[in-house]
Amino acid sequence: MTAQSSDGSGLSVRDLAVRYGRSNRALEAVTLTVAPASVVSVMGVNGAGKTTLARAITGMLHFHNGVADGGQITWDGRSIKGMHPAAVVRAGISQTLEGRRIFPELTVEQNLVVGGMTRRNDKELKGVMDSIYDMFPRLAERRLQIAGYLSGGEQQMLAIGRALMQSPRLLVLDEPSLGLAPKLVDQIRLTIGAIRDLGTSVLLIEQNATMALSVSDYGYVLSHGRVNKEGPSADILRDPEIKTFYLGLDLDEAGASR
Ligand code: ATP
Repeated sequence: MTAQSSDGSGLSVRDLAVRYGRSNRALEAVTLTVAPASVVSVMGVNGAGKTTLARAITGMLHFHNGVADGGQITWDGRSIKGMHPAAVVRAGISQTLEGRRIFPELTVEQNLVVGGMTRRNDKELKGVMDSIYDMFPRLAERRLQIAGYLSGGEQQMLAIGRALMQSPRLLVLDEPSLGLAPKLVDQIRLTIGAIRDLGTSVLLIEQNATMALSVSDYGYVLSHGRVNKEGPSADILRDPEIKTFYLGLDLDEAGASR
């Protein structure tokens, strides 16, 4: 199994190079593919370049003084490199940011409405919101509550729900398990599987390799701004070199959570 799509559909990143400021090189040459209806994980230690990759795809680099100065990013065969974030969303790619960036002073429902700003009318907005509440009953129960008072896991659900309000064909999740207890990490994992089963691809940026590999079809390991290893997630879990050198994983621990 590979992450490649034969007809050019989905996301394709080729030899992507990114620098911050004049000379701080964060990505050297990154190549990866996300085929339709697949979950692809990008793992690596702190500073490997994971968030930078997400920013380059979603058009956010510019806000961080970053420049993609080499390579290509295409979505369904069309270049999206350097595109404005709103245009990327309109093209069908939504994201959650590292650390569950919700609007803490707004209610759950208001957060979802903000996520669905581009919806054409109230009926369409309500329809998609109901589908989010079906996926996350906990959010439905708390829809009038101020989002800042939700638990960490609920805030992450809200961040994902808000991104899904655009009905994206690709969801980019940056470290959704960050700071969550194991039980909640498990819930996020199940949610990611459910999103894929509904036909949305997921690019999962994760430092928690055990979680990432247990839900993804294919994985990439970034190190110093390059893809050092890639392969079907099941193969990565079996490769002792990757586990110990790149991911710091214990085999039994990784196998046990599958
Ligand atoms: P983490 O898991 O800690 O978030 P990461 O793998 O997501 O790490 P990045 O945040 O993409 O890594 O960082 C890659 C490199 O780029 C690091 O050396 C980092 O210091 C640098 N970097 C990231 N953002 C900026 C910025 N806005 N300005 C300058 N350098 C940056």
